[in-house]
Amino acid sequence: MEKLFQELPKPSNLHVHFSTFVPYDVILKDIKKNKDLRDRLYISSTQELNFCKNRKKNMSYKLITEQDIDKIEKLLKRKDKLKTFVLLGGIFYGIIKNFDYYKNFYLKHILSQMKLQKIQYIEFRLRLGSCIDQHGKNIPIIEELEALYPYRKHFRIIVQDNKSKEKDSLHYFQNIIDLVRGTKYESIICGYDFVGSEDKKKSFFQQHFHALQNFKKKNHIQYYLHAGEVPNQPTSVTNLDYAIRLNPIRIGHGINLFKHPHLWKDIQKKNIYLENCPISNYVFFKYHLDIQNIIQYIDQIVIGSDDDNKFGSNLSMDYFYLHHLGLEMKYIYQLLLNSGKFVPHFNKKEFDKHFLIFYKKYLKLKKK
Ligand SMILES: [Zn+2]
Repeated sequence: MEKLFQELPKPSNLHVHFSTFVPYDVILKDIKKNKDLRDRLYISSTQELNFCKNRKKNMSYKLITEQDIDKIEKLLKRKDKLKTFVLLGGIFYGIIKNFDYYKNFYLKHILSQMKLQKIQYIEFRLRLGSCIDQHGKNIPIIEELEALYPYRKHFRIIVQDNKSKEKDSLHYFQNIIDLVRGTKYESIICGYDFVGSEDKKKSFFQQHFHALQNFKKKNHIQYYLHAGEVPNQPTSVTNLDYAIRLNPIRIGHGINLFKHPHLWKDIQKKNIYLENCPISNYVFFKYHLDIQNIIQYIDQIVIGSDDDNKFGSNLSMDYFYLHHLGLEMKYIYQLLLNSGKFVPHFNKKEFDKHFLIFYKKYLKLKKK
């Protein structure tokens, strides 16, 4: 049955981080079989390949070696995926950032993965401007946008900054807004997201509310905000509350909504959608989704996969997980339709046709 869910037609994946979408073993295969690629693939040379911990000025790069590849392969084989996720995430992020790889391999893999999983359209969270050339030098954002441009009918970008220091992020976003304004690249970008830490004492959105509100107004942009992700954390609830006040198109994760019905009222009034990521929330926060909650608020929910590689999971598995928890097929159909609302030129008739094919196979399998 799990396999069959790959065939479930999925209008869109609306919460997924760009660098975690293509399975790591697909990337490793490229590197192993392509010596030419290996000879120009640079990785961070310090701290055992872990790029994330090394955003320092004196960071240097080196060519990937056979030993590095062995090490990565061993890590990939380890069963405790979650423990190695951060490390692997850092390593592969370092590889994907190579603009050569990004442009000539990664973007193409995205399309084949979409086809494999029957996903029509994606909105990726991505920090633009992180790519490097073969000497470790930064690639101008405009070149990255040019590489992304041909794919705009398949996927678009929600620009994300990882640091979430208000001043830095606003400066970074402003840079991109000014760069794309009035150009063809505007069509690649849906909007902007801040990922503020929620376990500190102060809520990011509360703290910077006015600055963020003014920034949005001044630049006529849309927000898609990560908020309310940490269960039973008061700061996370406050953060969610202020995120809602910023009128985003959607809110990422937001699992604290389920315990705070008054916030749901605001969400419904403002027609904000919740990007629920069932497997991610379970894996990272041991958050058990209550199916009754999903049913109760189904009109405002879409399903996302967040970080596909963290557990070797993907959007198909998120839908399968919901089914496994007992969510009836009519509700799964509703969630899929919701996700179609964000697809440019969504064709409901076409979708219904494919869904029916899936549904017949599903019923047949269920009888067995
Ligand atoms: Zn996320």
